[in-house]
Amino acid sequence: MRRMFGMRVLIFILGIALVVWILIRLARGSSIAKKPDKQVDDMVRCKHCGVYTPRQQALQKGERYYCSDKHRDQDR
Ligand SMILES: [Zn+2]
Repeated sequence: MRRMFGMRVLIFILGIALVVWILIRLARGSSIAKKPDKQVDDMVRCKHCGVYTPRQQALQKGERYYCSDKHRDQDR
């Protein structure tokens, strides 16, 4: 009987540890998920192939954006 009680306590502690771990993961996940919103706004679409590229890395030609100088030259 004592052995069974010990097992229950162990499972109970493991259960609490699991819940705490899940809560920590959820808390971290929600804080990370809020940040990338600004980066998504800075994505521009390549006029040639349609690939989304960060504005800083994209090549601009007038009002158009391109993922590479190759696509900029091909799209005329
Ligand atoms: Zn492209």
